[in-house]
Amino acid sequence: MKNLTKKETIHIIFLAAAFICAALLLGGCAAKAVTEEASVMNTIMRVSLYGTEDQALDVIDVVKEADDKFSKTAAASEIFALNHSMGTQHAVSEETYNLIENIVEIADKTHGAYNPALGTVIDLWGIGTEHQGVPGETSLSSALNKTDYKQIVLGENNTVSLGNTLIDLGGAVKGYALDLTRSELNALGVDSAVVSIGGSIYARGTKPDGAKYKVGIRDPYRESQDYFATIELEDACVSTSGTYERGFYAGDDYYHHIFDPKTGYPADNGLVSVTVIDPNGLNTDIYSTALFVMGLNEGFEFAEQNGIAAVFVTYDKKVYLTKDVGYAFTITDDEYEIQDL
Ligand code: AMP
Ligand code: MG
Repeated sequence: MKNLTKKETIHIIFLAAAFICAALLLGGCAAKAVTEEASVMNTIMRVSLYGTEDQALDVIDVVKEADDKFSKTAAASEIFALNHSMGTQHAVSEETYNLIENIVEIADKTHGAYNPALGTVIDLWGIGTEHQGVPGETSLSSALNKTDYKQIVLGENNTVSLGNTLIDLGGAVKGYALDLTRSELNALGVDSAVVSIGGSIYARGTKPDGAKYKVGIRDPYRESQDYFATIELEDACVSTSGTYERGFYAGDDYYHHIFDPKTGYPADNGLVSVTVIDPNGLNTDIYSTALFVMGLNEGFEFAEQNGIAAVFVTYDKKVYLTKDVGYAFTITDDEYEIQDL
């Protein structure tokens, strides 16, 4: 091979650099997110990622598998079997054992405002089922007597006993499922994605141009795609608990699906939604439900004391942000107004 002159070498380097730039630019044009959607966990799940369709479908499959394990109604699920074990020490998988252990621990931090053992009360109201309705006082108080989560005993060899309670993890599994999608995306080597499961969303990394993902927080008074504010997220999850998600009217009264474990009635405290932001999906889901139950004053104080980033929205469109929400929150609908507590 002939030795290149200095001029020729520079020329080749220049051509190579131009080629790489062109490839990057083309790559930039080709970097389009793929989106897949599915009906899972009684809601709609969406995955948008910079990668392939197969990868998006893998992420959906992980959540479908979790739904099969943790659904309260599917006869083949672990939770269904546990709820039918009549208070005996019942063996579950290690994953389910660890999840229940984790959930009970966080529930305890909320002093039971989030109560995983509320199954009998939730079943009695039957929201979203054919028999939904306002229960009578007697049946409600007997159901309430079976909701002490301290009766849940975590035994040896992954056994769990529920005492006289039934568990309902509906307020936690969507957030937990986001954590599972994070592990799956790690394994797939996808570093930019947004996953939503109903009101729980995980934003992973940044967009290819370096911009953070901007996620809408649902307007409680409008359709599911309408939002009143946006929040920028990077490697974080956000869950919103709202009255609009599930409920029914009896006469003029609206009964929603987030129950106050002290009374057995839907929490009726002037809030319409609570949003929590955290790197951990399970935390966002549990705390959004718990803070909703606590109400604005107690919930706000609890969030501030425990470093929880939370957004409270009252029925009259007043918005309260804990200090940890930071700068990345923007109101996009001027009917809503940020207030200090
Ligand atoms: P979320 O939409 O995450 O706020 O969860 C609401 C769901 O959690 C309901 O549909 C019930 O299945 C369940 N749930 C309702 N109230 C509570 C509560 N106080 N603690 C734990 N789970 C609850
Ligand atoms: Mg929740």
